[in-house]
Amino acid sequence: MLVEEPRTGARHSRWRTMLADGRVECRLCPRYCKLHDGQRGFCFARQRVGDEIVLSAYGRSSGFCVDPIEKKPLYHFLPRTSVLSFGTAGCNLGCRFCQNWDISKARESDRLADEASPERVAEAAARMGCHSVAFTYNDPVIFAEYALDVARACRERGVKAVAVTAGYITDEARPEFYREMDAANVDLKAFSDDFYGRLCFARLQPVLDTLVYVHRETSVWLEVTTLLIPGQNDSPDEIDRASDWFARNLGADVPWHFTAFHPDFKMLGTPRTHPETLQRAREVARSKGLRYVYTGNVRDRAGGSTWCPWCGTLLIERQGYELGAYNLESNRCKGCGRRIPGRFAHQAGSWGARCMPVRLS
Ligand code: SF4
Repeated sequence: MLVEEPRTGARHSRWRTMLADGRVECRLCPRYCKLHDGQRGFCFARQRVGDEIVLSAYGRSSGFCVDPIEKKPLYHFLPRTSVLSFGTAGCNLGCRFCQNWDISKARESDRLADEASPERVAEAAARMGCHSVAFTYNDPVIFAEYALDVARACRERGVKAVAVTAGYITDEARPEFYREMDAANVDLKAFSDDFYGRLCFARLQPVLDTLVYVHRETSVWLEVTTLLIPGQNDSPDEIDRASDWFARNLGADVPWHFTAFHPDFKMLGTPRTHPETLQRAREVARSKGLRYVYTGNVRDRAGGSTWCPWCGTLLIERQGYELGAYNLESNRCKGCGRRIPGRFAHQAGSWGARCMPVRLS
């Protein structure tokens, strides 16, 4: 089935400018690709056509899956609910350790199998009982026009919008992008510009700017993820400096996930992250006053669960995506009644740990 045509201009970028030398500059992400007619940007998703930059992947996805929200990971956002997840193709970072490289490095024709207008995505999410839709698998910044239209269609139906992103976006595009989001998990891939340059072909500062912006200037629920890669971003000194920055700029209540690397893409020779490295990082961050620090991609009940920082009650027990004990009453600890930061319904959802591929077209 063919997707309905997007409204006129939906796939045309508004974040672009004509340069004096005749090239058109994309101003959506800090790469600022300067394009000749017909040329595609670093992300491959955007192409110059005449004087315009066009999102050629508008309305097409690499596939849809109903996931637990914990998989994003979002631990303080509607626990145990299902989220309709999708991505497109391409990426604006070039991470050598990419854990979704079959999608992020794909050309559109290889991967974009499923077609769906924003209305169709939102209707499907509502029909399947998903509380939210997540833009994930590759970075939604590069398909911003599509993601924003989906988010708007979702809002009309009471479905939330979630961005899973590297946070690599310009100052001018950031407000419009986050205005339509309800929650975001932003990667802080490392705390060094050397790492971002060497392993992601990117820079650290725009990511820090995004984190501070989302936390201070929006009502978007924010969680942060750092994939710890042995020998690359897991030194005690780096974790210590990152934790200091986090506490100073994001405060004690933004959840931070330290997740385990597995060998992938261009880094097949690097070993898996040892669980002790994750636990050590968690302890360092907690020692700086951060209240909600998690380990991920490993079996670790203590590090994967939410504990009341005031009375020690086990608030949300997790083993992987499986939830056990649940001791929140709305957003309050059942043990001491203190408020726990996040977006919590009166009760947890009932989706569980299933990941279920679905077709929309
Ligand atoms: S969004 Fe794509 S085309 Fe635009 S600057 Fe970034 S990488 Fe280049």
